[in-house]
Amino acid sequence: MSQDPRAARSATPYWWEAAPPASLPRSPLPAKVDVAIVGAGFAGLSAALVLARAGRSVAAFDAMNPGEGASSRNGGITSGNIRPSLDSLIKRFGKETAYAIEAEGKVARKFLRDLIQTEGLACDYKLTGAFSGAFGFDQYDAAARTAEGLGKRLGIDICAVPHAEQHSYVGSDLYRGGTLRMDIGGLHPAKFHAELLRITLAAGAAVHDHTPVTAIQREGETFRVTTAAGTVQARQVLVCTNGYTDKALAYLQRRLVPVRSRMIATEELPPEVMARLMPKGVMLSEKRQMGFYYRPSPDGRRILLGGRDSSRQGDPLKPTLRLRAGLAEIFPELENVKLSHSWFGNVAMHRDMVPRLFEHDGMLFATGFCGSGVVWAPWVGSRAAHRLLGAEAGKSAFAFRPPAAIPLYRGDPWFLPAVLKGFTLQDQFAMRRARR
Ligand SMILES: Cc1cc2nc3c(=O)[nH]c(=O)nc-3n(C[C@H](O)[C@H](O)[C@H](O)COP(=O)(O)OP(=O)(O)OC[C@H]3O[C@@H](n4cnc5c(N)ncnc54)[C@H](O)[C@@H]3O)c2cc1C
Repeated sequence: MSQDPRAARSATPYWWEAAPPASLPRSPLPAKVDVAIVGAGFAGLSAALVLARAGRSVAAFDAMNPGEGASSRNGGITSGNIRPSLDSLIKRFGKETAYAIEAEGKVARKFLRDLIQTEGLACDYKLTGAFSGAFGFDQYDAAARTAEGLGKRLGIDICAVPHAEQHSYVGSDLYRGGTLRMDIGGLHPAKFHAELLRITLAAGAAVHDHTPVTAIQREGETFRVTTAAGTVQARQVLVCTNGYTDKALAYLQRRLVPVRSRMIATEELPPEVMARLMPKGVMLSEKRQMGFYYRPSPDGRRILLGGRDSSRQGDPLKPTLRLRAGLAEIFPELENVKLSHSWFGNVAMHRDMVPRLFEHDGMLFATGFCGSGVVWAPWVGSRAAHRLLGAEAGKSAFAFRPPAAIPLYRGDPWFLPAVLKGFTLQDQFAMRRARR
């Protein structure tokens, strides 16, 4: 780790202090299973749970420790965010699908809350509400109009918060008001994953960690799944590899772009500072392309802040400094704060930025969560399982065509720095306009 005083003390996720991902005791591979699942993050486990409880034999494979992908590294904000605005969803998919997607967000957030509650998952979940800050009064007006529409049409508990009242939610003058949505909260992602793993194993699913799947071939009505530990015959295959998709799943790899997302954690802050900066402990985000999301740690003693990381190799200091600068822009008094942790993980973006449940070559894919998988991955994973069971509950507004392949792309996102730079320029332009 860097000796630079602006760097963080640790390069591992803050969450791993309380719940580090760990290897499971080795078990022999079965010769045959009903369902093979590739990836044991939130999506893979959520599917495995439903299938095992329905009496299917399930083997989930993960190349790393279970949860070591994005599922134990994220901000734990249960945003259920859909990246494109409602207007662009309508333009691309038509009114019916666009509203069905927004409506599914409401149901999916409730599904997560119910899952945590009914299963008694100890993961520090709190339904706090979430404030999203606007830059400039034009952006505020547009956000207020969308909030009103979503409230009226879908009964979502969301309202505009004018500039004069924003200090009730965030001790910052950066924004010109924002929106407050009450069906969003925060959880401890690594604890949530560990608890999901506990109930999935108890339901009878087998999880084979450090067992990369290297090839999947169709053999008549079944699939031959080749892994580093041997071969398994599966009746059905579900792929849940999201931002960690590799060349074993070349079809998916051409459609998903892994993008690094980074988080920093401050050292513990005095209680009076936390009370001033985050008075109600709500989850926080901003309405800009390269914006930040942030929140108090579950114990309320630190600030955790995340955003895009345009690095692609190693663990350079620059992305941490970008997040530090973002933190100081929001809260100038934290300019010289000490950071305890700075870590990154991969999210999966694709061309239309809408999560997906789709079929290709007889296999099912639950993936493409575009940085908002705390709600979407458990939800789409469980819908995928119901679909494999042939049940009505397998229906979803996300179950349509596969994401489009990206031209000239085979898994190395060479174009990413230019794309992220473009977003930064768009933000700078919008900020300049907002200040006029
Ligand atoms: C820093 C960061 C912050 C984030 N913050 C938020 C947030 O606050 N709110 C939110 O909603 N979302 C957030 N996200 C996104 C969220 O974490 C993900 O969308 C979600 O965890 C995806 O879950 P998953 O199960 O689809 O994939 P993952 O958890 O990434 O799991 C995929 C798994 O597939 C395995 N795999 C890949 N290829 C193979 C193979 N060939 N064989 C076997 N295994 C394989 C990998 O090892 C990996 O474990 C964040 C992500 C990051 C990285």
